[in-house]
Amino acid sequence: MSTTYIAMIVAILMGFGLLLGIGLLSLLSGALNFLFVKPRFDFLTSQHGEAGFAFTCKWDQDAEPVRFDRVRVHLFNPFGLPTEVDITRDFNGADTDFARDVEMGEKFKTIFSATNLEKASIEIEVIASRDNVTHIHSMKALEFVNKIKNSSKTLADVEESFVVVKEKARFEIPERTFISPPLPKTAKQLKMASNPMFAGDFAGAALAGGAAAPAAANYAVTKVWIEPGCIVCDACEAIAPLVFEVTDSTCIIRPGAPLDDGLKIQDAAEACPVEVIKYTKVG
Ligand code: SF4
Repeated sequence: MSTTYIAMIVAILMGFGLLLGIGLLSLLSGALNFLFVKPRFDFLTSQHGEAGFAFTCKWDQDAEPVRFDRVRVHLFNPFGLPTEVDITRDFNGADTDFARDVEMGEKFKTIFSATNLEKASIEIEVIASRDNVTHIHSMKALEFVNKIKNSSKTLADVEESFVVVKEKARFEIPERTFISPPLPKTAKQLKMASNPMFAGDFAGAALAGGAAAPAAANYAVTKVWIEPGCIVCDACEAIAPLVFEVTDSTCIIRPGAPLDDGLKIQDAAEACPVEVIKYTKVG
């Protein structure tokens, strides 16, 4: 065999070796990425009972500097009832390891009473909406339910190791009373409707419509939503706290918010400095 053939065979073998090495390295980096970047969850006991999802989330923030602010729990239960539960909630965002107790609503409770859970699966998505990053964690639905039921820690227990955002502080606005300085002494009688001396002067005005105007009739709205551009000023939540919730970065409509007090929603929309609150009236 000539030296040319030997050199060709050696070159081909080295090429294969190189390709194999690159493949192994990429597999290794994928595995490392999976192990250390992918968020790891731990389940806690929620203060909202079965209507809440409390969890911790850890990930490698140097490798993935994102801000997680949304969670989605999606049950696939083709052999039982309900066949599907899909709930998404926003929470106060976090860019370091965090723990949150998120109120998921009444529908979340149906996961715990679902039939044939042993054949169902569940996906937990933790989402960084601003950074467009989603991590999906899949597991057996029964395992999910058991982990939550058997969890022994609450948010308070992990407070030292994780960023825990407490309920937003509510400030009471004190009722103010202004005391005017005493009126200068005078012999003149103050002319006002309650003064019997001048009652006749005001009688005509009362008949001509001086009585208090009737209150505007309330109405329900079919839909209320926030358009982009919220500057997180808290005005809407102060006016209609049952409907609006202001988070760190935006304002959201509370799930299941009552929409029957249209006047209050209208007030909040009119108070919004950037006019991003929109609603449609019934009818
Ligand atoms: S009033 Fe408008 S700008 Fe202020 S928090 Fe509400 S939606 Fe955002």
